[in-house]
Amino acid sequence: MSERERLAAFFRIPSPVHEVKFDAFRERNVEVFMKRDDLIHPIVSGNKWRKLQGYVKQAQEQECHSIITYGGAFSNHLVATAAAGAILGLKTTGIIRGNHADLNNPVLTLCRLFGMSCKRVSNVEYDELHRIERIEKGCYYIPEGGYGKPGILGCKAIIEELQDSYNHIFCAVGTGTTLAGMSEALLEKGREEQLHGISVLKGATSLESEIKSLTPQANFSLYHEFHHGGYAQVSDELSKFIKDFTGSTGVLLDPVYTGKMMYAVKTLVEQGVIKDNSRVLCLHTGGLTGLMNDRMLRYFAVEG
Ligand SMILES: *Cc1c(COP(=O)(O)O)cnc(C)c1O
Repeated sequence: MSERERLAAFFRIPSPVHEVKFDAFRERNVEVFMKRDDLIHPIVSGNKWRKLQGYVKQAQEQECHSIITYGGAFSNHLVATAAAGAILGLKTTGIIRGNHADLNNPVLTLCRLFGMSCKRVSNVEYDELHRIERIEKGCYYIPEGGYGKPGILGCKAIIEELQDSYNHIFCAVGTGTTLAGMSEALLEKGREEQLHGISVLKGATSLESEIKSLTPQANFSLYHEFHHGGYAQVSDELSKFIKDFTGSTGVLLDPVYTGKMMYAVKTLVEQGVIKDNSRVLCLHTGGLTGLMNDRMLRYFAVEG
């Protein structure tokens, strides 16, 4: 087995596509499929793994044996980087936003298990550096969330792996790097699907231009009305929807990203924005670690 094959065996690529049966879709005769990037790895969020491909390739080409990257204390990107580093034999360091962040939460504990060393810095220091991709003394610095042009590369494969065609493709949007990669691949392949991004942030007014700065020809619709209160905020309707969806489809959604995306898809189907009889593909980006904190768990607590 070559080194390439050995590494590939750690991840489920291509990720499978599953049809989901849910009443709100059935009523409109809309066929909804999910590309299960959450099944690429049990812990690593699928799109974080995809975004890392381009960065890891560059790090290896530049003979960097150490990766330094940035994230909040519950960052999916940090866990993905830690796991990828362990598998690839790269040393990893996570710079955590805020001097008061709890380093012993479940997400950073996972990072440490995968061998990452976690360091806190002040918000000011963090904000100065977290978006700059650079190489210093054999260390490769990856921006927060894998945002940037190298991040796009691996996300193109999401589209390249598709065997069927659809009318619409949806994904949750944080930095927009995943959306940018998908848009680029749709264009290159001459595919007709309409691409939709659901922003999980409140009032992310510069998002559109940031995505266009990654890939100028990007063609997509961005929705800003499905944030449910802001990043990592959960409304009662959202937690109710997630319980209902997961309980009736068997597909686990996280409240930070994929829950908001599927809530948006359901709403747009009900409103007829997605026409009856359409075929829709939703990218399940993963994000299981989004459930791993007390505040999130309280949204799903038993009543009474
Ligand atoms: C980070 C993340 C996203 C957002 O990806 P971007 O490329 O930053 O837009 C979506 N879903 C999950 C589960 C994530 O962890």
